[in-house]
Amino acid sequence: MKNPDRSGMEGLFVYLEYLSGLYPDLPVSQSLHASGSSGETSGSSLKDTTKKSGSAVDGPENLMSESVGSKSVALGALAVKVNECRDCSLGESRANPVFGEGNVDTRLLFIGEGPGAEEDRTGRPFVGRAGELLDRMIVAMGLSREEVFIANAVKCRPPSNRTPEVVERDACKHFLLEQIRIISPEAIVLLGQTAIFQMLSNESPISSVRGVETILPSFPGIRVMPTYHPAYLLRNPQAKAVVWKDLQQVMKWLSLPMPVLREK
Ligand code: SF4
Repeated sequence: MKNPDRSGMEGLFVYLEYLSGLYPDLPVSQSLHASGSSGETSGSSLKDTTKKSGSAVDGPENLMSESVGSKSVALGALAVKVNECRDCSLGESRANPVFGEGNVDTRLLFIGEGPGAEEDRTGRPFVGRAGELLDRMIVAMGLSREEVFIANAVKCRPPSNRTPEVVERDACKHFLLEQIRIISPEAIVLLGQTAIFQMLSNESPISSVRGVETILPSFPGIRVMPTYHPAYLLRNPQAKAVVWKDLQQVMKWLSLPMPVLREK
């Protein structure tokens, strides 16, 4: 699906329309609309009750909290800019840019590498086999895909699924930084080498930074966990154990309940 092509203050509606297209069966209200006067997102164990500043007002046009609404507007405007972007050569070969999707007011953001063929075709992040594995990882954390936000280091597909080049990462980085600033999560999981290079400016082997809590200089209040990409886990299933350890650490940061292990 093509991203919307409008600008300005229509951003919120553009983003809602965009998500409705991506999730024809998913009520957009589940991830975007506040419920009740507290502005909490419905059914979310990742709802951020510390950041809500507005009170919801009766009426369908005012169903969002000030926080969720302003984030949606800002992300919608940013999605329009990504849709129009041709700042690197990937913009010429893409079918669709992949902006990212999820709960705009989440406490947990996942950042992957860039779109593959299926993502390019659908305009959605992490679909296909790696996406299915990421979904299972999120569920193992006691969450759902709709409760977190999923983005990529670069928004357009590199030809033949090659690794994004430095010049492409650099050209796209400001979009990702702006997404982080708007969403303002408490924790970020960096999935794979490209996301780690992009955000940490650290070109050390992933094995040396994986599992090590990091802080981003631009966002000192956000805890960052670098770990392996789900596509790597499909090729190296033995690495799932260390990734699960990393995710459990993130769950501790967010005070999420740990799964109860069944006795054999
Ligand atoms: Fe623009 Fe990023 Fe796409 Fe390059 S990859 S065209 S910088 S949106």
